Amino acid sequence: ARSFAHRLEGLPAPATIEMARRARELRAEGRPVISLALGEPDFPTPPAVVEAAHAAALAGQTKYPPVDGTPALKAAIARKFARENGLDYAPDEIMVSNGGKQVIFNAFMATLNPGDEVVVPTPYWVSYPLIARMFGAVPVFVPCREEDGFRLDAEAVAAALTPKSRWLVLNFPNNPTGAVLAAEDLQAIAAVLRQYPDVWILSDEIYEHLVFDGVRSASLAALAPDLKDRIITLNGVSKAYAMTGWRVGFAGGPKDLIAAMRGVQGNTTSGVCTIAQAAAAAALDGPADLVREMAATYGQRRQKVVDALRRIPGLTCAMPEGAFYAYPGVAGCLGRTSAGGARLETDNDFALAFLDEEYVATVPGSAFGHSPYLRLSCATGEADLMEACQRLERFVGNLR
Ligand code: PLP
Repeated sequence: ARSFAHRLEGLPAPATIEMARRARELRAEGRPVISLALGEPDFPTPPAVVEAAHAAALAGQTKYPPVDGTPALKAAIARKFARENGLDYAPDEIMVSNGGKQVIFNAFMATLNPGDEVVVPTPYWVSYPLIARMFGAVPVFVPCREEDGFRLDAEAVAAALTPKSRWLVLNFPNNPTGAVLAAEDLQAIAAVLRQYPDVWILSDEIYEHLVFDGVRSASLAALAPDLKDRIITLNGVSKAYAMTGWRVGFAGGPKDLIAAMRGVQGNTTSGVCTIAQAAAAAALDGPADLVREMAATYGQRRQKVVDALRRIPGLTCAMPEGAFYAYPGVAGCLGRTSAGGARLETDNDFALAFLDEEYVATVPGSAFGHSPYLRLSCATGEADLMEACQRLERFVGNLR
């Protein structure tokens, strides 16, 4: 047998892969599949952003970029951090990567040794523990409870931190729950972190603009400036500007860590496509109203979806304050049998039977380390969303 690196051993295959495969199969059979599985805006990239990319390509911005980002994009990022987050980052405290995902890869590769612990609140975006494991680190999970609106409790963080902790991951607004932390919640977590000076903090703020009902999402580094030299403030253009395919994410952080991350990136990707960087700069410097309009649309869809879900006996649903997902609980449906004869013991069973029988693809909570739930993406047209909710109501109504 051919052998692969030990670091890939035990990396679980995400439940999403099986769901996606089954959805494709059903579609090929001509079934009316609705997919609420993807975490991707359904809007196009704003035309002015596409034009900036075109202009950059025609103007000859086609050579290798500086590893950590073009000066023009880094300047636009510095302005963004100052304007939107009240954060002052110098050019050598900023780096551009191939998506926010590569920021995390760079940061973890630059800091983690085997046996180190990474504290990850659940439910989590699946990449944090997976990337940590690639470097032999051990994810330590802290549950955020539905009764608390999926907000992270500072005491739970304190209970999870040990002398081996190297990172605390914070992701608010959260994927998959949409929870946002209030300034006082963040301050309480900051107070805990002050007792652990060797812990880095990843503050993943990629959904910051997608917040509803006047809620505001704060940056930890701005609220706790004394911790700023241990915080990586992660952001990107994928979600806010509907630019998932351009692969531009970025981070502000302390100079020494950014330099180490630059070293990792120099040996992996040599930096980010120059044309995509020009597009990202145009997005960040562009008018904010497009982002606000998209956020308002996600907010309206979320309201309708949550209202529909809460009318279904057996389901619960916290109201997301941000991002573009709903995360209903299905505990009340487990132990029962679907109309098609599937016994529902777990949220995986639920998601698969719902797909098989009603042709709606979702992601089971197990994929986010927090069961039994389903994640429904509201980055989907309203007609499909409402139809999916009706099918869910029928599916649950038919359980025996
Ligand atoms: N952080 C969170 C919470 C996400 O959900 C995602 C994408 O799904 C990312 C970061 C990374 O996005 P990208 O690599 O496209 O910047």
